[in-house]
Amino acid sequence: MQQALRKRILVTGGAGFIGSHLCERLLEFGHDVLCVDNFFTGTRDNVLHLLDNPHFELLRHDVTFPLYVEVDEIYNLACPASPVHYQRDPVQTTKTSVHGAINMLGLAKRLRAKILQASTSEVYGDPEVHPQPEAYWGRVNTVGPRACYDEGKRCAETLFFDYHRQHGLRIKVARIFNTYGPRMQPNDGRVVSNFIVQALRDEPITLYGDGRQTRSFCYVDDLVEGLIRLMATTDDVTGPVNLGNPQEFTICELAMQVLAETGTGSELIHEPLPEDDPRQRQPDIRLARELLDWQPRVALAQGLAHTVRYFRERTGA
Ligand code: NAD
Ligand code: UDP
Ligand code: UDP
Repeated sequence: MQQALRKRILVTGGAGFIGSHLCERLLEFGHDVLCVDNFFTGTRDNVLHLLDNPHFELLRHDVTFPLYVEVDEIYNLACPASPVHYQRDPVQTTKTSVHGAINMLGLAKRLRAKILQASTSEVYGDPEVHPQPEAYWGRVNTVGPRACYDEGKRCAETLFFDYHRQHGLRIKVARIFNTYGPRMQPNDGRVVSNFIVQALRDEPITLYGDGRQTRSFCYVDDLVEGLIRLMATTDDVTGPVNLGNPQEFTICELAMQVLAETGTGSELIHEPLPEDDPRQRQPDIRLARELLDWQPRVALAQGLAHTVRYFRERTGA
């Protein structure tokens, strides 16, 4: 890549699951990457293989505090994403989304930098509209246990659009649907990693509720491609844009696929459904297709195969 095209790019939450894949891809494109993370759910291990790269820098920092650095673009991913982790310290979760967004928007404003927000399908809550298009305003319980995440992310979207309208900031808002792949932590608590780890340890697979609730699972490489394409759009494109895989599965079907892929015979057991657990989730990705010429390429079986291989190597199972 020519020097002129080399950008300095900040990835907050860069030592997390999605962030580490994004850092890797941006380095492959020839950019300088500054990864900022407080290691709440991410780890140095996720970016260990990048530390020798002279174009990569890792900074331990909490985005709820101001950050003064010089960059051209910002991907704001800092925030725990698993219900188990974001409910562990719910006040910190809201602070991360809201104060973190204000600080990163203030940074983008000073630098006139382009900034992308990792928003979420959780802004749709437990939806009455299916599949969910961007125009749907959502159904979120403001006082439930998921609200720290859902409302924090909704407020962050508000801040992004107000900085855009009030200060002319160049913003991009991606609404990410369930994403999975290598580098999820074994104790992450989300369904794909839980099921794979349980299957590989020959432990029972924990279905919450009757297992008939649905999710649509996007492989991380597809998602990262979508984020990079969104950042590259012209300034008039702000989003929000849904990014996710529209193929929808019940949680029971996911369990069967994981058993097939691992070749193990774990039994399925039922545990209580967490409060406010959304019943169904499927992205309407027409906008992403049109604006980004993007759609997921990796089918669930293929993505699960990569992910199972990763967990096998990691756990020696
Ligand atoms: P993750 O938990 O692996 O990554 C989040 C990263 O942010 C971690 O490295 C964590 O240490 C860091 N972090 C948390 N609080 C921070 C703070 N205050 N300051 C600095 N760093 C902090 O989760 P992920 O799945 O990689 O999610 C990345 C982003 O994408 C999150 O913003 C999440 O809300 C969003 N998202 C993810 C999914 C998904 O299915 N994976 C779906 C929707 C949205
Ligand atoms: N900020 C930051 N880095 C910068 C510029 C700003 O972290 O390079 C933070 C700063 O803490 C500020 C916040 O971003 O409180 C919002 O900045 P903005 O300029 O919008 O507001 P103000 O400075 O007026 O509070
Ligand atoms: N889930 C489950 N067993 C688990 C973990 C999760 O049945 O061990 C269910 C959970 O109740 C939800 C779905 O799987 O209906 C997806 O959960 P996850 O925590 O991965 O993400 P989110 O609910 O935020 O989409």
